[in-house]
Amino acid sequence: MAKQEDDFKKVISHAKEYGYVFQSSEIYDGLSAVYDYAQNGAELKKNIREYWWKAMVQLNDNIVGLDAAIFMHPTTWKASGHVDAFSDPLIDNKDSKKRYRADVLVEDYVAKIEGKIEKEVKKATKRFGDAFDKEQFLATNQRVVDYQEKATTILKRLGKSLEKEDLADVKKLIEELEIACPMSGSKNWTDVKQFNLMFGTKLGASAETAMDLYLRPETAQGIFVNFLNVQKTSRMKIPFGIAQTGKAFRNEIVARQFIFRMREFEQMEMQFFIKPGSQKEWYGHWKEHRMKWHLSLGMGEDNYRFHDHEKLAHYADAAADIEFRFPFGFKELEGIHSRTDFDLSKHQEFSGKKLQYFDTDENKNYVPYVVETSIGLDRMFLAVFSNSLQEEELENGTTRTVLKLPAVLAPTKAAVFPLVKKDGLPELAHEIIDDLKWDFNVLYDQKDAVGRRYRRQDANGTPFCITVDHQSLEDKTVTIRHRDTMEQQRVAISDVKSIIHKEVDMKSWLMKMK
Ligand code: ATP
Repeated sequence: MAKQEDDFKKVISHAKEYGYVFQSSEIYDGLSAVYDYAQNGAELKKNIREYWWKAMVQLNDNIVGLDAAIFMHPTTWKASGHVDAFSDPLIDNKDSKKRYRADVLVEDYVAKIEGKIEKEVKKATKRFGDAFDKEQFLATNQRVVDYQEKATTILKRLGKSLEKEDLADVKKLIEELEIACPMSGSKNWTDVKQFNLMFGTKLGASAETAMDLYLRPETAQGIFVNFLNVQKTSRMKIPFGIAQTGKAFRNEIVARQFIFRMREFEQMEMQFFIKPGSQKEWYGHWKEHRMKWHLSLGMGEDNYRFHDHEKLAHYADAAADIEFRFPFGFKELEGIHSRTDFDLSKHQEFSGKKLQYFDTDENKNYVPYVVETSIGLDRMFLAVFSNSLQEEELENGTTRTVLKLPAVLAPTKAAVFPLVKKDGLPELAHEIIDDLKWDFNVLYDQKDAVGRRYRRQDANGTPFCITVDHQSLEDKTVTIRHRDTMEQQRVAISDVKSIIHKEVDMKSWLMKMK
């Protein structure tokens, strides 16, 4: 645990030191669970958003984009069920006065059991070497089978109690498992209560006439209320999807995990409208498709897993998370939900307007079913950033800190250095930059020895460094150094653009989804 905490602290401090993420309003001591993205963070975030948008909207001829407002008519949230049911179970520790999500306390307990299973697997892998059969080991090793059974039983019970709103049983479960407050070690808990996560605000100039509004807690509802407008104007036929990215707001009970759980965050959501009865097929399709998107970034298959939900939200008939191995363990990164016709039917009921599709093949009207994919942009940022940050032991016994961001997402694609600050080298370096900057984000750096400049760009996540030296003036060649391998090549200046392009081009990365 200590190593995990240490690694996570390194991620947070690196994000600050290299201009990725700052605490909001830091000069006023910050605002809890609200963050600002700095010069590099804004670029990385933009690149992730674009990588998602291209994969969803540009590459699917049956998905179109939308940019709905954050403010929506307040009845939206009554219809969607958020006013009545968008809450989390909270529990307070009476001694430490710390507040927790009751379900998360139990899930963290289960994560510890899963950690034990992983340890057993590691030990056995070492012991048996090539002969090791993981599947067989998981199915037959008694200790592992017992752990697995325990974890499943706990999660099932939690799911059932939450579904039945049996909060007393959630508390009982916490007591039976002897879960202690992570801060104080105390097991002195209050009862579990529900807490609504929506932020309220007011619209209007005078106190008497002002209207109570909510900041949207998810972007999805903006898609649902626009369903018919988009369908008609785009002349889309079912099945088709609407995608959007944008801010969402949740008054999270516990927000101590940097940008993993924020009170203001960004979502990238896609609602796919389908014929009733075809939801199983599309749910499977989108689960698979979204996993392929993640894997295309090359961050390691072992770092992802599906988690099928036992407890379903009020709108869903099937739901799964794509979980990622964050520095604090496997946690939800994206949700794929089969939402039935719940949302459109509710909006139809509350607005009195028909939200139906006329199916020309079947010659009838119906309210479409929906399969949704929903990923947090900030969570994706944390997944990419934390997975990329590595300390490497070098052959000469030193270590280097390197941010091995997938090159397609890196904020700066190349840094150009003159070997020395004279003899016309800075001028040639600037000439190269002036040419490259039409295609890529590039930067110029002439400070310190070249070795230190390389290290700075390694830590910054820049995939290429280009060094201009005296030979460059004579034969128009430069040294290009690759961040991950540290390999250096002498290449013609005229080839630099295509070398970078090959590595950072979004097309070749997205092609890996095929
Ligand atoms: P969690 O169980 O972690 O609270 P959730 O199941 O409530 O998440 P959804 O409502 O399914 O999340 O939202 C879809 C996605 O939005 C999540 O998978 C996550 O990536 C992101 N997300 C949700 N809440 C937050 C938050 N407070 N901060 C950052 N990202 C979030």
